[in-house]
Amino acid sequence: MPVKRILVLGGTSDANVLVEELLKAGFDVVTSFAGVTENPVFPEGKIRVGGFGGEEGLYDYLKAEGFAALADATHPFAAQISRHGFNAAERTGIPYLRLERAAWTALPADNWISVQNTEAAIAALPNAARIMLTIGRKEIAAFLAREDLSGVARMIEKPLFELPPNWELVLARPPFSVEAERELLSFHKTTHLVTKNAGGKLTVAKLIAARGLRIPVVMIERPQKPPAPAYGSAPALVAALA
Ligand code: NAP
Repeated sequence: MPVKRILVLGGTSDANVLVEELLKAGFDVVTSFAGVTENPVFPEGKIRVGGFGGEEGLYDYLKAEGFAALADATHPFAAQISRHGFNAAERTGIPYLRLERAAWTALPADNWISVQNTEAAIAALPNAARIMLTIGRKEIAAFLAREDLSGVARMIEKPLFELPPNWELVLARPPFSVEAERELLSFHKTTHLVTKNAGGKLTVAKLIAARGLRIPVVMIERPQKPPAPAYGSAPALVAALA
């Protein structure tokens, strides 16, 4: 059987696991990164970095490079690149498969306020709330702009601007332990945890800690992804491709 070329849209730890599995199964893999992080963790195989120039650019790239399929392993909140991937693959006539970890769901002991986007998350926060903000660095500005809010903003890479004095910046890469999350929440007298429903085990400890401390969680739910087959694990996606 000829070796099949697969384009993996990456930028997540799940994508790197997928690439490992695809290489093991004998596929020729190119992993694509947006190029927005300073220290990306690259998987084995071929790598390309930077946007394609919209759906049209991705369509041209898929055709020119002769890919047999497109595997979308981007973050659940990276909606634009998934939409471009789905449309470009359809136009090229190759399969689009998505790797998608399950979303987190609330347990009876949780106090979640589920919202659809960042604006709704900000609106859900009461006056003078003390926040632990764990939504990455891209969308924090609107939270910081509300002068009555304060707390800790945690992200992997530093934001592109200084935080106001009522906010503390924590730069850290997951995973985190439940003990460490509990300490962080308690130390800062946190009244609300604000996060995105990323799912997965790597960053779930904050939810367990918040549950134990009875801290309400403003949970930003996932944007819609394209209507296409989604696989919950790398082996399941590889099996579907094979
Ligand atoms: P997005 O809003 O869906 O995409 C914005 C643009 O970035 C796309 O139109 C594309 O540019 C480029 N792009 C995104 N992912 C790419 C990839 N894997 N390869 C090549 N180009 C890519 O994405 P985002 O939310 O900014 O996320 C950017 C990257 O960070 C994604 O790869 C995602 O997996 C990763 N990430 C995102 C989050 C999050 O919370 N959003 C968290 C962790 C990791 P062109 O239009 O020029 O092609």
